[in-house]
Parts: sequence; C-alpha cells; structure tokens
Amino acid sequence: MREIPLSRPWVTEDDKRAVMEVLESPHLALGPKLREFEEISARLAGVRHAIAVSSGTAGLSALALALGWKAGDEILTPSFSFVASANTLMHAGARPVFVDIDPDTLNMDPRHAAALITKQTRGIQAVDVFGLPFDAEAIEILCRSKKLDLIEDSCEAVGARHADGRAAGSLGRGGVWAFYPNKQVTTGEGGVVLTQDDAVASFVRSVVNQGRGENAGWFGHVRLGWNYRMSDINAALGTSQLARLDEILRRRRAVAGLYEQRLKGRGPWTLMEDLGRSWFVYVIILQEAGLRDRLTEHLKERGIACSHYFAPIHLMPHMRQAWGCREGQLPVTEDVSRRTLALPFHTMMPEGDVERVCRELLAFTR
Ligand SMILES: *Cc1c(COP(=O)(O)O)cnc(C)c1O
Repeated sequence: MREIPLSRPWVTEDDKRAVMEVLESPHLALGPKLREFEEISARLAGVRHAIAVSSGTAGLSALALALGWKAGDEILTPSFSFVASANTLMHAGARPVFVDIDPDTLNMDPRHAAALITKQTRGIQAVDVFGLPFDAEAIEILCRSKKLDLIEDSCEAVGARHADGRAAGSLGRGGVWAFYPNKQVTTGEGGVVLTQDDAVASFVRSVVNQGRGENAGWFGHVRLGWNYRMSDINAALGTSQLARLDEILRRRRAVAGLYEQRLKGRGPWTLMEDLGRSWFVYVIILQEAGLRDRLTEHLKERGIACSHYFAPIHLMPHMRQAWGCREGQLPVTEDVSRRTLALPFHTMMPEGDVERVCRELLAFTR
C-alpha cells in the first residue's frame, strides 16, 4: 500500500536550475541571489524592508530583540500555535502570556487578550494560524489604546491578505514568513523578516549578521549578534518559488476545495473555511477527542499520514515549569487541540490521494 505523506515540497526544474546557477557562481552567500530574494519578498508583502534569515524562528527572535523585549516584559501570544512563537519571546528574556482563541477562526481572541493586559505588557505577537490572518482591526485598536507594539508571526500565511488588503506579515512593527519544506513556499530552511520601520530593519539586518554595522566592513561589529543569515543557495530556491506564488496558492486552494466537496456535512467534523486564507495545512475538527485519536490510528494503519496540529504550547513541560501554566487555563485552546486532525495536504496532491483519504474517513465514521 502506497503511503500518502502529510506534506511534500513542490520543486520544479526551474527551481533546480536556479539553485545550480548559484552553485556554479562564486557567490554561495551574501551574494546577488540573497538581495533578489529580499526584493521579491518586500514587493509581495508591500513593505519597505525584507531581511532574509535562516529560519522563521530566527526571524521572530531578531524581531523580539529589535523591539527591545526583555526580562520583565509580558508579550501576549496564542498558545494554539507552533512552539517557536513562544520560545523566541523567552529567548529574548520576555514572558509569553498565553491568550485563548476564537473557536471558529482558531486565531487569538482579542477580548481575552484585552483581559490579560497588565502594567508589564509591552506587546502582542499575533499569529496567522493555518494561514488565516488574525483579527487585525480589533488587535490594532487594542495596541493603539494600550500603547503596545505589535508583531505578526505570519510563518504559516505567506500570500494571505487581511480584510483591508494588507499582506499578512506587513502589520505592526514587523512580521515573519517561514520557508520550511512543509510551508506553502520553501527554501529548505529559511525565513524573512518584513517591516516598514527603518530602525527595526537596520537592527535586524545587523543582529542576524554578526552584529555588523551598516557599511562597517567585515570586522565592523557594533553589537552582540548571531549568524542567522540565509545562503544564496536557499535564496535562489525561494526566489524561484515566490515567482509562482499565485499558482501555488491557487493549487492549494483547489486541493482544499476537493476535501471540502467530499467531507462537508458528511461526518462528525467541522472543516476550516477558506475565508481568503493562504492554505498551509488541511485541518478538520472532530466532534469528540476519542474519535480523533481512534481515527488517527486507523489512518496510520492504512498508510495515511496525519498529525495533531497543534499541541497547546502552555502545557509543554518547559512552559509549565517557567510560568506555572496549567490545564484549564485556556479552555477553548485545550478543547480544540484535542479534536484537530491535519490530513495529508500539499500543493501537487493528486485528486486520487484526496479521494483515498476521504474514503477512509467516511468509512470509519459511518
Ligand atoms: C513554521 C512556524 C514557525 C517557525 O518557522 P521555522 O522556519 O520552522 O523556524 C513559527 N511560527 C509558526 C506559527 C510556524 O508555523
């Protein structure tokens, strides 16, 4: 029985040619392909600055430092996200304060965020969960009225747009897209920091490049820095992929549509609505946690990969230990995360594979 993978990158002949071109050039790093990748990212996001980095995680870390988030600061962020969202705040020394989610959008609930604000609250790191932009209107009003900095973890939302047309990742003081192979667009490993803010851009560019000053030369280190750069090899792959972003998003939307056709109203689950999202994963929410777990076993036995997106961050051992988080703290997050199931989903997924997954789902729950 052929395995159906959870995800698979789409790499074309053009992508391979773009990478080979770099390998045949003398510029494997800090070369023209890196600049080109940053330019296309900035253009797509409609922002002044894009700084390519070695991962989405590196980008979030750099942004947290750029805003001066540090020990004693509290940053509001959802627990229903990938662990990097909260870890990067802690690497800066700040405290992630976990906000519950809206059960329909699975994004941060602005009313719960407002209720968690204290004198120590410095900012909000909003996440576009599963590629759906968060409630920007409510969160931006909250940030303005409480004088909080906003950053956007758009690691799952490349190409998505907020209701008013602004690109996911372009709001607040800065945002990040990520390019791990399971994302919509991949560079192998990689990310990009997007910002309209000249000071943030200049700090991020420096801190991810050994703390070098602008035009200060190879040994012109002016601050504590990392090497969180992206190589030109990765950048060339990313540029080639971003050039067909529209096609990628269209194909992914079509695969999601095939699932919806076969599954909507046909079983004990709810489906994620499109709502203009950039489709990252295809998640269904089962009516009941036990059923989700039995179904997981069943699919795996049949060679169909699936996964439980997300495990709540606040209940991970390092978060319980650091911040005293406990069960019952975020009722919606905890309930939803026991019932979600990510099905196989990728840009070039054959219709026959969608059919096989759906057949198994329908047969098991009939
Ligand atoms: C993928 C992801 C990240 C991290 O990106 P990496 O490139 O894997 O470091 C951060 N936040 C969210 C929500 C993600 O999905």
